[in-house]
Amino acid sequence: MFIGNRWFASTSGQTVPVVAPAEGIVFAEIAEASSEDVDLAVSTAREAMDGTWGCSTATQRGRLLMRLSALILDHAEELALIEARDTGRPISLARNDVLVTARYFEFYGGGADKLHGETIPYLADFFVATQREPHGVTAHIIPWNYPAQMFGRSVAPALAAGNAAVVKPAEDGCLSILRIAELAAEAGFPTGALAVLPGRGATTGAALTAHPGIDFIAFTGSPEVGELVQIAAAKRHIGCTLELGGKSPHVVFGDADLEAAVAAIVTGIVQNAGQTCSAGSRVLIERAAYDRVLKALADRFAQTRAGTPEMDLELGPVINAKQRARVDRYIANARESGVPLVATGQIHPGAPPGGYFVAPHLFAPVPEQHPLAVEEVFGPVLAVLPFEDEADALRLANAGEFGLLAGVWTRDGARAMRLARSIRAGQVYINGFGAGGGVELPFGGVKRSGHGREKGFEALYEFSTLKTIIQKHG
Ligand code: NAD
Repeated sequence: MFIGNRWFASTSGQTVPVVAPAEGIVFAEIAEASSEDVDLAVSTAREAMDGTWGCSTATQRGRLLMRLSALILDHAEELALIEARDTGRPISLARNDVLVTARYFEFYGGGADKLHGETIPYLADFFVATQREPHGVTAHIIPWNYPAQMFGRSVAPALAAGNAAVVKPAEDGCLSILRIAELAAEAGFPTGALAVLPGRGATTGAALTAHPGIDFIAFTGSPEVGELVQIAAAKRHIGCTLELGGKSPHVVFGDADLEAAVAAIVTGIVQNAGQTCSAGSRVLIERAAYDRVLKALADRFAQTRAGTPEMDLELGPVINAKQRARVDRYIANARESGVPLVATGQIHPGAPPGGYFVAPHLFAPVPEQHPLAVEEVFGPVLAVLPFEDEADALRLANAGEFGLLAGVWTRDGARAMRLARSIRAGQVYINGFGAGGGVELPFGGVKRSGHGREKGFEALYEFSTLKTIIQKHG
């Protein structure tokens, strides 16, 4: 654990084994933070808020974030190797993740001293101003799918806005975060501004989110745990942001640049073995172009290969045995219920037999109500459905419980804009699709995908609260 700029073992002596997903072998152990450790981290964060960190100026905080960004870049290859071993992802993807993480600290470093209130015209003898203040001590529950990036996304705006951050990374995929915390100390963040408490969700995570010293919670993960986090926040009347994944659709019309659409669709679901909250996991294709687009998708899908980080192919393994069993269940269920399997990718013959590899699977047509059409698989599995016309496309795009992202592919600008404005989602891409990255772009969900906005300048509003100061000057 990293608390108060120092390494600690857990007071309970408990540890969690760290497994390399590409090999299926334990290669490290991390501390499992106990509730006493959570107490220590939160009280150290509180002291920081009452002391040096709470008194820091926005410019000072911005400079520290920039310095951390530079240190992340200085250690980019080391961090990429850690991330690749810990999550199994292809090394190129890990390298890109590190660049995006550095970019979060750079972006919010630049944003820290641009966050300000405003004056409000009121009665003649009053002067009214608003000011943005940090919540205080913020808890960050991070998932395993993009550990370093998710850390940057959640923690950089919180620190920029002046909060002290206590972070619980996932059981799987936490090593890069621990290393970045050490770099933060080197960058000069004062004691208590940032703590990282590895451990299990049901113990460390639950103790952190229920802790009376926490003023705000940022959570990314499953809808089920998101519900528990929201209940913990509600019990203490504090705010939270929830980013809970999705079943994001691509809507493809026959007049689109189909080559570009097919390439982006396949990359969007295969990248990170489908373990991306914003993955485009449903493809809706205009009936008239259905056969043509499906064939192009199938051809490209068949060329995808899963392998180790060093092989650096289109995808790596999924994160652990539980996740592989979950994805395998969805695939088996689709096959048993008669959904046609149109194409599969490959697992590289040299991939270690103990690794958690899943070959990409493309199913079409998937019935509207089938679990594959409505549930988040979080694996390299793509569901394709035809639609009849624009109204039908909109109906299907808005069907289901999620609302995170959508992609619209057409050369008809008016139609693209009509759909973009009517689809219920936090982000809509037109003739493109971006899962991950896009640090500048506000991001988050509606419906079961959660609430609150991360990324972009918007995140600085989420991680601060507004005070109105009203002065009667006579
Ligand atoms: P999860 O929701 O259990 O884990 C996410 C984070 O929450 C981890 O850090 C975990 O330790 C923590 N956590 C778990 N229980 C907690 C509790 N009671 N209190 C506080 N924190 C707790 O997700 P998972 O089991 O790792 O994955 C299950 C499914 O969730 C996946 O198959 C996928 O569908 C979804 N998921 C989505 C995202 C996303 O980015 N939206 C990320 C990870 C997983």
